[in-house]
Amino acid sequence: MKAMGPIPAGYVGRDGELVIAGQPVSHWIAKAGETPLFVYDSARLTGRVAQLRAAMPQRLSIHYAIKANPFAPVLRHMAGLVDGFDIASGGELAMAQEAGFPADRISFAGPGKDNRELEAAIAAGVTINLESEGEMRRALATGERLGVAPRLAIRVNPDFDLKGSGMKMGGGAKPFGIDAARVPALAREIADSGAQWRGFHIFAGSQALSADAVIETQAQTLALAGRLAEETGIALPHCNLGGGFGIPYFPGDEPLNIAAVGAALGEAFDALPDGLEETHFAIELGRWLVGEAGVYLTRVIDVKDSHGEIFVVVDGGLHHQLAASGNFGTVVRRNYPVAVANRFGDVDAGFAQSVVGRLCTPIDRLAEKVALPPISEGDLIAVFCAGAYGASASPAMFLGHGAAAELLA
Ligand SMILES: *Cc1c(COP(=O)(O)O)cnc(C)c1O
Repeated sequence: MKAMGPIPAGYVGRDGELVIAGQPVSHWIAKAGETPLFVYDSARLTGRVAQLRAAMPQRLSIHYAIKANPFAPVLRHMAGLVDGFDIASGGELAMAQEAGFPADRISFAGPGKDNRELEAAIAAGVTINLESEGEMRRALATGERLGVAPRLAIRVNPDFDLKGSGMKMGGGAKPFGIDAARVPALAREIADSGAQWRGFHIFAGSQALSADAVIETQAQTLALAGRLAEETGIALPHCNLGGGFGIPYFPGDEPLNIAAVGAALGEAFDALPDGLEETHFAIELGRWLVGEAGVYLTRVIDVKDSHGEIFVVVDGGLHHQLAASGNFGTVVRRNYPVAVANRFGDVDAGFAQSVVGRLCTPIDRLAEKVALPPISEGDLIAVFCAGAYGASASPAMFLGHGAAAELLA
């Protein structure tokens, strides 16, 4: 038997069925007309943003990193809740615009922006977080060609990373951002060029559950921004402090204490380094805002026994839920929280069963040897924490089963 991650707080059963957004899962499956299905709970999205605002200093803007979940109804919903969208491609720019989000509150990071993407973003008035000197030259040339002053910020590759984070995005040699030592000269060049100087973007990592680690990183980020602003000699208009707030996915994971993070950030804002007194600050979060609001529902096609191990074969798999299979940025495969959605809250402790997808590869495992009640054909398996990096971050083309349905409840 292997442990699984904690089911996010607030999911309950009614007459044996898992309830999402006030309705049993059978309601949502009937509405979508099919499984596999991602259901995202709009009230949870709203609640999450409200919870974050209550914990963070008022001065801090909240941005949504849309790559976590760019489903159009989710974007439209989030558009009314957050202060900014962070995008990482021309495709995401189109999605953000489609959702009606104002371009002057969008920022665009990501290495390898091509000239078409730069042109679309600069023409729209999006802030470009520059990832290299070459990109800066191309952005300035694009602005000149279009006859507009581009809004330019520098993504800084910090000299530190977010401790305990799942994905390290800073510290040492990285494809992301511009090494801190080269930033002041470039910032001056941008300001002197007639472009609109928008400041720094400093992202040090992702999926941190330790408040101490986040607090330390934010302190380092503020100190770095202060030092770079001083060396640049220009007061800093804007600073994106990154994010990295994680959610519990695995056995033993505890939720991040955002109250502690917010309190420390408030204190830091009261004692800002010179040159940052007037700076506008933002954080950018993906999974923390949307991850727990999503549940992936997949129906059992077959149950079989091999050498004593019970395999529950479902109509979904890693082509929708790569992360739950353990193949998206994790070193060791561990179990996401899962449940039998039509027998939710079954007091029967159950026995060890493995939930596998229907792809012809041994890596297609949604849960390994977890305690679940007896399962038969037609039952429904719920995979929790499916609101981020699910549908859009999985290889839906692989093996031709097609994409999963998605629904905002
Ligand atoms: C992916 C990404 C995010 C969002 O990360 P989460 O772990 O989902 O919060 C934020 N900022 C940048 C620059 C990213 O690349």
